[in-house]
Amino acid sequence: MSAPLLDRFGRVHRYLRISVTDRCNYRCVYCMPAEGLSWLPREHLLRYEEIGRLVGVFAKLGVHKVRLTGGEPTVRADIEALVGAVAAHPGITDLAMTTNGHTLARLAPRLAAAGLRRVNVSIDSLRPERFAALTRGGELGRVLAGIDAALAAGLRPVKLNAVIIGGENDDEVLDLVRFAGERAPHLALRFIEYMPFGERWHRSVPSAELRRRISAQHALEPLPAPAMGDGPARTWRVVESGLELGFISPLSEHFCATCNRLRLQNDGHLRTCLAHEDTPSLRDLLRAGADDDALEQAIRAMVMAKPEGHAALITGGVPFEGVMTRIGG
Ligand code: SAM
Ligand code: SF4
Repeated sequence: MSAPLLDRFGRVHRYLRISVTDRCNYRCVYCMPAEGLSWLPREHLLRYEEIGRLVGVFAKLGVHKVRLTGGEPTVRADIEALVGAVAAHPGITDLAMTTNGHTLARLAPRLAAAGLRRVNVSIDSLRPERFAALTRGGELGRVLAGIDAALAAGLRPVKLNAVIIGGENDDEVLDLVRFAGERAPHLALRFIEYMPFGERWHRSVPSAELRRRISAQHALEPLPAPAMGDGPARTWRVVESGLELGFISPLSEHFCATCNRLRLQNDGHLRTCLAHEDTPSLRDLLRAGADDDALEQAIRAMVMAKPEGHAALITGGVPFEGVMTRIGG
């Protein structure tokens, strides 16, 4: 294996998030406009064999954790084939997916058989009507069935992701803690601070405020800080139920100093930082015939140029270039 992917600030990169499509069967209010987006033409999307080849190069550079996301990864045709192509690289020891869960009841056994290890399922409300409103048409019953199917297929623990928006669903924080706690340790829960992508709609509820509300009802004990490579959540345990509770706080407790993630967009651009799109596109290099050494050099150069952080950008209210579905969350 080559030397690890180090940047100028000493951060080692072992985690790659891949957005496999910008399309989605939901239209969550915080992610997409009701009419959807102008989808990328299919020929602009990375093909499965291109993703598989890039994952091979990243694995050689020390990446061992991959997460498939989107858009909604399960709307891309034959997603199990991509799972199989990524899982086939022996260096990839942790392969996960973030999904809205809409088709998980059907797909979970096939994804597990193809080599998927874990899933995160987004669920922002436990009230069917509110769930449908937040996702603009999502069906809570299907997502709950998807969670059951994922657990039955061995994709454990299932981590539930909830984006909390002040005045929309912040009254359900304790309900979500109770729901997940009843099935701990097979379920874990992550609260994600709402990020004002592309608009200035600042209704984010800081993680510290959520923790204050939860700890007024439940004793919490902090879990050890994750090792670099385990993602940005700060985690606590609900003493009573044993539930692992994570807080992802891109706004209030940004984690740039330990950021070990790289994002491969569905158009083939790498994002070494959420707030910064790198060039040239790896897709263009691949299609121009670059060999693995050339891809490795290009990736190393982009990682070397990774900015120190994005906190000033987002707290200043400057929207990121690009959209969440291209970046993959
Ligand atoms: N469709 C899949 C899903 O919803 O889980 C995967 C893609 S989605 C873009 C990935 C994650 O980003 C989801 O957990 C979603 O809730 C979160 N997300 C989307 N827009 C967000 C925003 N504006 N602020 C915070 N999180 C957001
Ligand atoms: Fe689709 Fe996920 Fe965005 Fe919701 S958050 S619109 S499910 S990509």
